Amino acid sequence: MSEYTHALGDRIINLDAVDVLVAGGGPAGIAAAVAAARQGLNTMLLEATGCLGGVSTSGNLPFWLGYTNGSIPFRWMIRKNLAYRDLPHPRRAVGGIFEEAWKRIAAAGGGEPPCHMGQTDKYPGLDRLGCHDEFTFDLEIGKRVLDEMAVEAGVQLRFYARAIDVKRRGAAVEGVYFADKSGIQYVPAKAVIDCTGDADLVDDAGFATYKGDRKTGEMTAAGLVAHIEGIDAGAIEAYLNAGGDPWFYEICARARQAHPDIDLPEHLIIFPMVQDGVFMVNGGTSHRGFDGTNGVDMTNLTLKGRQRARDLTEYVFREFMPGAKNCRLRSTAATPGVRETRRIIAEYILEEDDLLNGTAFEDTVALAGRHFDLQRKDGQVFADKGLSVRRGITEIPYRTMLPKGADNLIVAGRCIGADGQCLGPARIMSTCFAVGEAAGTAARFKIQKNTAFRNIDVQALRAELRKNNCEVDA
Ligand SMILES: Cc1cc2nc3c(=O)[nH]c(=O)nc-3n(C[C@H](O)[C@H](O)[C@H](O)COP(=O)(O)OP(=O)(O)OC[C@H]3O[C@@H](n4cnc5c(N)ncnc54)[C@H](O)[C@@H]3O)c2cc1C
Repeated sequence: MSEYTHALGDRIINLDAVDVLVAGGGPAGIAAAVAAARQGLNTMLLEATGCLGGVSTSGNLPFWLGYTNGSIPFRWMIRKNLAYRDLPHPRRAVGGIFEEAWKRIAAAGGGEPPCHMGQTDKYPGLDRLGCHDEFTFDLEIGKRVLDEMAVEAGVQLRFYARAIDVKRRGAAVEGVYFADKSGIQYVPAKAVIDCTGDADLVDDAGFATYKGDRKTGEMTAAGLVAHIEGIDAGAIEAYLNAGGDPWFYEICARARQAHPDIDLPEHLIIFPMVQDGVFMVNGGTSHRGFDGTNGVDMTNLTLKGRQRARDLTEYVFREFMPGAKNCRLRSTAATPGVRETRRIIAEYILEEDDLLNGTAFEDTVALAGRHFDLQRKDGQVFADKGLSVRRGITEIPYRTMLPKGADNLIVAGRCIGADGQCLGPARIMSTCFAVGEAAGTAARFKIQKNTAFRNIDVQALRAELRKNNCEVDA
């Protein structure tokens, strides 16, 4: 307990103990909480916003990558004039709760199976814009299905609840403090799963973390993703079919020339959404130099992001994008999308050489099927140097989830021990689901044996995950 929670003293509301406390309801947290609750564990999930899904919902990015492997960097594709449908999908990389979630969303009318989308089926030329292994879904249907999955599993959901501190005794986190409209509350827990993306609880507990690139401290750009509607998708297809650049450098150059006083991006990365005429703008909405663990930075990034979304709509799309003369800004994200902040100093840290050499681990609990894609300041994606993930599959060892020195605290999502460019494949949403599911499942082994997370029988965990349709064998 830190000094400030201590000072609040008797104003803190004490709640009944739970078996498992999950902080953060993004791809990792929803899977962790559902997996834990389905095993009969009394599980509470704290989520700072009002919906589950993290970056995919609050971040306006309903675009779950990595169901299969076989992806290659976009620039390689542009160079070879490849469309995504030209690529093979050699194998499934993630099953389990992730597959169940996309199937339920698709069955509810919220999207086509991965690698398919209404707009690209109608306008195949749009395929040059988008990824080929993603599941794209209707945001509202996706949010509701994730709610349903958590509620059906018996998860005690607490929205608008931010975990703010922990009570630590020795190697154990005895419980978590959180704040919501009711005030500051304390919940004791036998196992704690940190899915905050930023390793907030690991940091609060005083276990070691580092931020950004371990050598330089650089954090990849963050931003406020925008959706623009009212675009004639056929006109964009025609532009692409005529050899137009799928990153729109020339269109941005014209906009910048016409509006020299406005801060406009050099290129755009846009993807079709499930609704006709709606496009998500991802590349072109990001900014460097913002720290996702700093409250002032998050406010300033949001302010800048909303200005950028207006500028993109009015000065780039309406004026220069084919078929977008009458477009409107549909939405900006409720929260900025943050790619990289703290990572834990884990029992094992995945290194770039592991991915380049295709290292096999005995304690693999999840797979990642994506290539290297982390954009550093020098403008170079690692893969542009000609380096690729061996076999197109990354094994995620259980030990990457264990903060060094902690007994009952485990981590899932983008803050696991995955160094440098390894974060690219490891942070993809499908893989965050898979690692979250492994964490929630591991909680039963930990609690049943009353042992530390590091001492559970990992082969039994792997067997349980296999039984639950998860991919753990590369
Ligand atoms: C701009 C951008 C584009 C991306 N594009 C793609 C893409 O196209 N496809 C893809 O698969 N991946 C993409 N990624 C990567 C992917 O979205 C993330 O790596 C992934 O969402 C991480 O999952 P997570 O569960 O670890 O964290 P998050 O998705 O960040 O979720 C964390 C959740 O925890 C909550 N939270 C945080 N702190 C607390 C706290 N203290 N208490 C309670 N709740 C808390 C947050 O509100 C959030 O809901 C992108 C990321 C960004 C930023």
